[in-house]
Amino acid sequence: MVNTDQLLTMHSYYETGATKSYTFRITQLKKLKTAILQNQDALHQALYTDLKKNAEECWVTETGFVISEISTAIKRLKQWMQPDYTATNLLNVPSKSYVMKEPLGVVLVIGPWNYPLQLLFTPMIGAIAAGNTVVLKASEFAPATAAVMKTIIEQTFAPEYILFTDGDGAAEIPAMMNHFRFDHVFYTGSTAVGKIIYKMAAEQLVPVTLELGGKSPCVVEADANIAVAAKRIAITKFSNAGQMCVAPDYILVHETKKQALVEALKKTLEHFFSKQPEQDYNYGKIINEKQYNRLQNYLTQGNILYGGRSNAAQLFIEPTLMDGIKLDAPVMQEEIFGPILPIISFANKAEAMDIIKAHPNPLAFYVFTNNKKKEQDWLNTVPFGGGCVNNASWHLTNHHLPFGGRGFSGTGNYHGKYSFDTFSHHKAIMKTPAWFDPAVKYPPFKGKMKLFKWVIK
Ligand code: NAD
Repeated sequence: MVNTDQLLTMHSYYETGATKSYTFRITQLKKLKTAILQNQDALHQALYTDLKKNAEECWVTETGFVISEISTAIKRLKQWMQPDYTATNLLNVPSKSYVMKEPLGVVLVIGPWNYPLQLLFTPMIGAIAAGNTVVLKASEFAPATAAVMKTIIEQTFAPEYILFTDGDGAAEIPAMMNHFRFDHVFYTGSTAVGKIIYKMAAEQLVPVTLELGGKSPCVVEADANIAVAAKRIAITKFSNAGQMCVAPDYILVHETKKQALVEALKKTLEHFFSKQPEQDYNYGKIINEKQYNRLQNYLTQGNILYGGRSNAAQLFIEPTLMDGIKLDAPVMQEEIFGPILPIISFANKAEAMDIIKAHPNPLAFYVFTNNKKKEQDWLNTVPFGGGCVNNASWHLTNHHLPFGGRGFSGTGNYHGKYSFDTFSHHKAIMKTPAWFDPAVKYPPFKGKMKLFKWVIK
């Protein structure tokens, strides 16, 4: 458990200014990259132990993902650190105006268990690039991956710079946040815990980034390419056994295409994960018994169209398609976060919107259509964090896009330069030369209104 003295030591270390130079930051990013690459096999093994992720999936969604974020930061850091010069308005001519990027100080990054490496290390990369010191709080529910991450951090960085912990969140996080003022808290996890973090941060006016969850809808219009939609929905909904924050939570399909989509999904699932997904290399497992039991209950809340088998000893739940679900059933009220996909048909957009509006501000939204007008109409009417057209979840993997939710699904964003900006204060500066100091700016003001109205309009 981290104690307040350790946090105060980090604060003193930050105050020395040691973390601020370009040379220091770039050196730490390179060290981190080397350490992850050296521990790649151990990380893949640990991710297999925690979640039965195969090595290729680990590279795309965890290790490689993080390496790509570091490479981008290394390549772009000099440019990101430069002040942004901007225009100066007539009132302030001939001043110069620019925005400095300043580190925030000691920041806390809290991660969940579903992508335990990616979701803890990606924010840290932004925090390092921006010149901060970092406390990393890994989820206690992916212990094998947490153990390797701890080794990486402790062998690479001094504890006054980056400090790792993976204790019980409900005990450890309040113990830290209530006795030490962090300069920023970056939290990824459930909306329920997000509210607790937000309240604790508010007590000391600590700024936060909240990356939360929710029910992300996936609309399939009558004019969509159904074979392609089935593949793109299935790969992200059932990857990591559905334990993905941006997985399509439920499908809203135009009633004329429901049967075709169900048949295409069945064919695709068998092709991707075989008839025995519990033995399939490509299919993961549920993280623990608590989550397994929660998901088991959903299986009884509708009609099973495909799948539905499970095995508690293996923490296995088959990729499952369901229909005939009542909208007030828990499976349509709570974020599913598992390999169960409700399929609901709609006759018109208004009907589909009523269902979407029951869960405002989804983290993600997907629409499959070949009609540009419909595409824009959906994107303009649903208030969501980010999303895809004719695809699902992959927007998260493009570091040129900001990633984050809105309202109930979160506040703030990150990835690539957006991470650097999240962990930097943007300090506005105006520099005014002494050689030009017009008397008009000083009293007496009487009679200057006409001029002021000309300058300020
Ligand atoms: P969680 O909220 O249970 O845990 C996340 C972190 O919070 C863990 O480190 C945990 O130790 C800590 N924690 C737990 N209880 C706490 C408490 N009472 N006080 C303080 N800290 C506490 O979330 P989870 O189950 O690990 O993750 C699943 C949820 O996270 C889903 O809702 C999912 O959608 C969401 N999620 C969101 C994103 C995103 O990027 N927006 C990514 C992954 C997961």
